[in-house]
Amino acid sequence: MQFISTRGGMQPQPFSETLLEGLAPDGGLAVPEVMPQVDGETLERWRALTYPQLATEVLGLFATDIPRADLARMTEAAYASFPAEVVPLRAIGDGITLVGLSEGPTLAFKDMAMQFLGQVLEYTLERKDSVLNIVGATSGDTGSAAEHALRGKERVAVFMLSPQGRMSAFQRAQMFSLDDANVHNIAVEGVFDDCQNLVKALAGDLDFKRAQHLGAVNSINLARITAQVVYYFWAWLRATDAGGWTELSFTVPSGNFGNILSGFFAKQMGLPIRRLVLAANENNVLDEFFRTGIYRPRSAAQTLATSSPSMDISKASNLERFIFDLVGRDAAKVVAAWRDLDEQGFFDFTADLGRFEDEFGIVSGTSTHADRLATIRSVYETTGEIIDPHTADGVKVAREYVESGVPMLVLETAKPEKFAETIQEAIGVELDYSPELQAMLDAPQFVTEMADDEQALRAFVEANALR
Ligand SMILES: *Cc1c(COP(=O)(O)O)cnc(C)c1O
Repeated sequence: MQFISTRGGMQPQPFSETLLEGLAPDGGLAVPEVMPQVDGETLERWRALTYPQLATEVLGLFATDIPRADLARMTEAAYASFPAEVVPLRAIGDGITLVGLSEGPTLAFKDMAMQFLGQVLEYTLERKDSVLNIVGATSGDTGSAAEHALRGKERVAVFMLSPQGRMSAFQRAQMFSLDDANVHNIAVEGVFDDCQNLVKALAGDLDFKRAQHLGAVNSINLARITAQVVYYFWAWLRATDAGGWTELSFTVPSGNFGNILSGFFAKQMGLPIRRLVLAANENNVLDEFFRTGIYRPRSAAQTLATSSPSMDISKASNLERFIFDLVGRDAAKVVAAWRDLDEQGFFDFTADLGRFEDEFGIVSGTSTHADRLATIRSVYETTGEIIDPHTADGVKVAREYVESGVPMLVLETAKPEKFAETIQEAIGVELDYSPELQAMLDAPQFVTEMADDEQALRAFVEANALR
């Protein structure tokens, strides 16, 4: 299995080679040259597997350059700290079932992919006898998932920039309580965009990047996308009966289009998925695109800070991978769409509007703060379950698309404990923290405060980078 760029300018590469680079050299994103196919017989055989075993099978279709035994060892290690089931399902009525993706160390779905990425990065770097210094910016979930996945690794260090004073107490504790030598928390005097601009400045200096072995683990990372494909198969196998060929639908609380793209891959691989329902919050550029065919990214100033903050995006980094298939895998058309975007601020696929649902099964909807609160309340009142604000956006939009006879699975992208204030606002319940979480919240914190200053960041990275 080889990977090519959505913009056509990359020699086909195996899985391991796409891990360390975020983007293809031509500015496009890596995609499988041919999507692997899974038939009904194989699916039935997979029913008996544990989650790590299933992950080995699915990832093995993409990572054909990694020996199976090594892959099996890595998937076991990646999910060892999860509960036995790894991804539990639970019904909440009205034909809706939650897919529990937040059982990992940082209580959000990003652990599912990041824990595997941590394993495969260390493995690949060992084979190359190399090291990697990850420099990233976070407003919360991604940074903590990356740090918890990479802490203690010998060949990877993490430099994670966050906007000082702008994360929740819980998010700060989750990141800053780590005191591993290879984890560097940097609180920048500024907002998230300032952090991101600093990262871009360093990554854009190719000499510095090469000399310091800089890399990224952002949401376009292909290992993350493929690791996320696994739980679509897992959820389908748990939610259907043996021998049937039942179609079901998934609703995905979405930001950068990473999670739902993995569902799109699963559908293209042959998994019987009827609809992929994209749920957006108030920052609904993607809902706008799937309803109108026009994609118009917003500026940072037009991007709202909402109560489902991990979906607060101005543009959706992974959308290009969907567009590549929409235009029949014609790289020239992808390049043309992004040229339009640069020149006029939007691109226009209104002519293809009908195909979004008919051919690809993708539909969408938006949820607001009021919807979120009402949904948390209604699920709590009818089932006693407390769901987090992002999952609530999913349930709100899922309810608009439930069809009789078609199970609707909603991906639970975080645990409510991470967003206790919104839960309090919705249902007046003060969440109890487990003893482990309380200990984390009370632990000493390790963070370096820094001005919004590129030179200071360069000096810090140079002084602390692995080499
Ligand atoms: C990252 C995140 C999302 C959005 O996922 P994408 O892959 O960016 O679409 C949704 N919910 C939570 C809790 C997240 O952390």
